[in-house]
Amino acid sequence: MASETLLLPGDPAPYSVLNPGGRAPLVIICDHAGRAIPQVLGDLGLPPAVRDQHIAWDIGIARTAATLARELDAPAVLAGYSRLVIDCNRRLDDPTSIAQESDRIPIPGNRGLDPAQRAARADEIFRPYHGAVAATLDAKLAAGQVPVLLSLHSFTPVMNGFRRPWHFGVLWNRDPRLPVPLMAALAQLPDVCVGDNEPYSGRDEHGYSVVAHGEVRRLAHALIEIRQDLISDDDGVALWAGKLLQVLPAVLADSALHRLRE
Ligand SMILES: [Zn+2]
Repeated sequence: MASETLLLPGDPAPYSVLNPGGRAPLVIICDHAGRAIPQVLGDLGLPPAVRDQHIAWDIGIARTAATLARELDAPAVLAGYSRLVIDCNRRLDDPTSIAQESDRIPIPGNRGLDPAQRAARADEIFRPYHGAVAATLDAKLAAGQVPVLLSLHSFTPVMNGFRRPWHFGVLWNRDPRLPVPLMAALAQLPDVCVGDNEPYSGRDEHGYSVVAHGEVRRLAHALIEIRQDLISDDDGVALWAGKLLQVLPAVLADSALHRLRE
C-alpha cells in the first residue's frame, strides 16, 4: 500500500544521532526525546499546554542523553517526533502505537485514521528512527565491539494521584547483566531512591525498543527512567546525569556486559 507523504520540507528529521563517532561500547537511545509534530498534522487538536506535557514527550531526557553521550563518549540516537504522532516504544500493531488518548486526554488528530495515514507515520518516523538505532548497534558489532544498549526515559512525578517516590527506575526482563549491578550501584548513592521495575515493569512486554534491538541481538541492556521534576532544567540535568555518571563507568567496565548473551 502506498503511504501518503507525511514529512515536508521544513519538518525536522525523524531522528538525530549525537556523538556518532563515540568510541565507547555503548549505544544510548531515546524513544521519547522529541515533541515535534509534522506540519500537515497541525496541533493534533491539542492546546499548547498539552503539547508541552509529559504525554507528548519525556521531559528533560534529551538533554540528559546528550550529557551522558558526551561524558561517556557514546553515540545517542534520539527520536525527533512526539510519541503522540507515533510511539517509537510500541510495536506497530499495539493499540497505543498511535494513541487515541493518553493519560485520559483524547488526541483528536489521531481519530479515524485510514491505513495510508497510519502507514505514513510508520514509514516516515518509526522506521527511520529504528533503522538508525539498528545501524548504530550493527556498526559497533561490525567493528568488533559488543555494545551495551541503554534506553533512557523520564516519568511524571504524579500519576493517578500517586506521588512516585523513585528518582530512578530500572526496567528489565530476562537479562540481568546490566540492570542488577546498575541498581545496586545507584542504591549506594546517598539519598537516591531506585525502583526495580518501577514505575513501570520491563516484564509487561509493552516496551518495544530494548526488545527489538537489545534482546534480539543478545546485547546487555537496560531501560532507565528518571523522574521528570528532577531534570526539568539545566541544573537538574547536570545533577542527575552526574549521579548516573558516578556509577555507569564502573558498571559498564564489566567484560560480561560486552559478550553476546548465551
Ligand atoms: Zn518514555
